[in-house]
Amino acid sequence: MAYYDKVAVIGAGTMGNGIAQTFATHGSSVALVDIDAKGLEKGVAAIRASLDKFASKGAMTKEAADAAFANVKPSSAMDAVKGASLVVEAVSEREAIKKSVFQQLDALTGPECILATNTSSISITAIAASTKRPDKVIGMHFMNPVPLMKLVEVIRGQETSAETTAKVVACSEALGKVPVEASDYPGFVSNRVLMPMINEAVYCLMEGVATKEGIDTVMKLGMNHPMGPLALADLIGLDVCLDILNVLHTGLGDDKYRPCPLLKRMVAAGRLGRKSKKGFYDY
Ligand code: NAD
Repeated sequence: MAYYDKVAVIGAGTMGNGIAQTFATHGSSVALVDIDAKGLEKGVAAIRASLDKFASKGAMTKEAADAAFANVKPSSAMDAVKGASLVVEAVSEREAIKKSVFQQLDALTGPECILATNTSSISITAIAASTKRPDKVIGMHFMNPVPLMKLVEVIRGQETSAETTAKVVACSEALGKVPVEASDYPGFVSNRVLMPMINEAVYCLMEGVATKEGIDTVMKLGMNHPMGPLALADLIGLDVCLDILNVLHTGLGDDKYRPCPLLKRMVAAGRLGRKSKKGFYDY
């Protein structure tokens, strides 16, 4: 039984298509909305490919994969959110875009609908302030790849109600995830802890403390991390890491979050990690 009969996901990119797939697999009808027709098509294809992979590995039956796929209703019109009990926004990480999306959602959804954002770093409180229902706005921070990763960081904005938080926690559990509650401070828990570690690894490289392979091996074999911090930064995207470090630095006002000059230089050179085929490593 689905926790919500109808949900909507805004943005069909890396995160949005994974979030839509997860809800669809758990029985919800999912309106998947993206303003970019190509982006929407790519997102739907990614869901089909991922479900087929689950089925071919025996992790779900072909019938269950087909049923989940049938639950996904792609649309390029925001109107498709009408009737949803929960909307999860996963559009680009730009505050102005998110605020405009939330204003539209506030106008189009019923008064009881919860509006969640998958933002990695933008203030939930600031996004909520662009709506007339800040008590029903919350952070629902899924991890990439969403169908596989267990964690959902549930972030309460200044005005988020206890009822909204309880529903989002229960909904996350119904999706088979493990929710962890956090307050609305820059980077929440995940990026506040992860990004300084990555930044420090870049400082180690810049200062010649060890080679990139050496730094990654120390963290893998010495700390039992599945990936070294420099390889992980390449996976996340060096531009994304830099953006988040800037949010931490500005938002918390402490120099310990200042982005390493080598990280800035690599981003300026277009070495963005896996997505540009060159980062700390070549791909
Ligand atoms: P992405 O660039 O892959 O996808 C964003 C999608 O949003 C695009 O398809 C774009 O066309 C669409 N979009 C932009 N403006 C829109 C609008 N006004 N209406 C509808 N659709 C719109 O981005 P992503 O990596 O999926 O990230 C989405 C969000 O999730 C961001 O807030 C990001 O910080 C967060 N996040 C990302 C990761 C990650 O590993 N990529 C992890 C956790 C959280």
